[in-house]
Amino acid sequence: MDYVDEVLETVVRKNPAEQEFHQAVKEVLESLRPIVKVNEAKYRKEALLERLVEPDRQIKFRVPWVDDKGQVQVNTGYRVQFNNAVGPYKGGLRLHPSVNIGIIKFLGFEQIFKNSLTGLPIGGAKGGSDFDPKGKSDREVLAFCKSFMTELYKYIGADVDVPAGDIGTGAREIGYMFGQFKKIKGTYEGVLTGKGLSYGGSLVRKEATGYGLLYLVEEMLKCNGFDITGKLVAISGSGNVAIYAAQKAFQLGAKVITVSDSNGWVYDPEGIDVAALQIIKEENRGRLTEYKKYRPNSEYHEGRGVWSVKCDIALPCATQNELLLEDAKALVSNHCIAVAEGANMPTTLDATEYLQTHGVLFAPGKAANAGGVATSALEMSQNSERLSWSFEEVDEKLKHIMLNIFHNMSDAAERYGAKGNYVMGANIAGFEKVADAMIAQGI
Ligand code: GLU
Repeated sequence: MDYVDEVLETVVRKNPAEQEFHQAVKEVLESLRPIVKVNEAKYRKEALLERLVEPDRQIKFRVPWVDDKGQVQVNTGYRVQFNNAVGPYKGGLRLHPSVNIGIIKFLGFEQIFKNSLTGLPIGGAKGGSDFDPKGKSDREVLAFCKSFMTELYKYIGADVDVPAGDIGTGAREIGYMFGQFKKIKGTYEGVLTGKGLSYGGSLVRKEATGYGLLYLVEEMLKCNGFDITGKLVAISGSGNVAIYAAQKAFQLGAKVITVSDSNGWVYDPEGIDVAALQIIKEENRGRLTEYKKYRPNSEYHEGRGVWSVKCDIALPCATQNELLLEDAKALVSNHCIAVAEGANMPTTLDATEYLQTHGVLFAPGKAANAGGVATSALEMSQNSERLSWSFEEVDEKLKHIMLNIFHNMSDAAERYGAKGNYVMGANIAGFEKVADAMIAQGI
């Protein structure tokens, strides 16, 4: 058994029943094989891979709150501080009933490499709770957020760990959590990102993941001899990432024809109406069944099905493991050119492999969706210098970062003899910096 296999086996043995975490570690370590092979003696002596797959710490806590009927509810809160070799822990807070320690660990692990790839000094972390904000009143969300922060505040700080949004945690939740942190600590510090613009947030943060995704896709297409103009784009999801990915895709001259939510999906042959989507999702927190009211010629279908639509570019922007092998086959038979992950690990390992071996350009999430956390790091910089940059300034920096990410992963793949394998390139480029920093700082 070689070093990578040994570590993979240890991860499964030590963390049974954490399937998503196993999947994420396997995806990363498998593609690090070429660099591990060259440096095996050094890495073994340092126990580098063993240290990499073991979080610095895992915090798990009770979150009690009172619902509108006066009943006490109890949720579980998590923060996994995975690795701070290159900077303070950084990563979002996911609020979704599916959240468990395995999911938070997979996300935290991915975040290490994603954050490193941005080229900015941020380490990897993730947190959240099995609380479901869907269908809750404002008062209930406030009650939960206050209780959650009443425990979390002990472990975070502007130079320690800086959480942000993720699925279920948007501007409202960040605002409530920030207010509670400030109340408890009495300090006005940039302890969260994705803050409102009136109290220290950054312009472009809201749009950043979606915009960044399209900047990277545009560059990837260009470097492979394609032009994004006129391309048909299928998007899954209808949250923050999907909305701004769609907006930027239209701005770049492409046409987005699908979006989805957890109940169903929309096909709009005339092109998705982003303004309608914003009203339905951002203003009303509603469901996509309402979309037809705005666009009578569109179709709404129950269940899943976005990937069966003919498209040139597929952007999974919903959640993990939503693009399966059968979807990859459908995309290939419909002559899809590129898949880029707006969500974290939306494509299963077998689907990724199928797409890659059938000539589809594949940009992994840790590169493709890094624009969100990169702009979070820009928000941290602005908070530190107590300044706010203009929309154009932040957008330009974001674009620059995304192009750098693309070229770094593309170059890393080429250096290790796997030209065009962006999964390998992203993992190696992200890992190199973290490995250097870990070795330089000793154990
Ligand atoms: N939740 C986002 C991600 O998956 C953003 C994290 C952040 O801004 O810290 O990268």
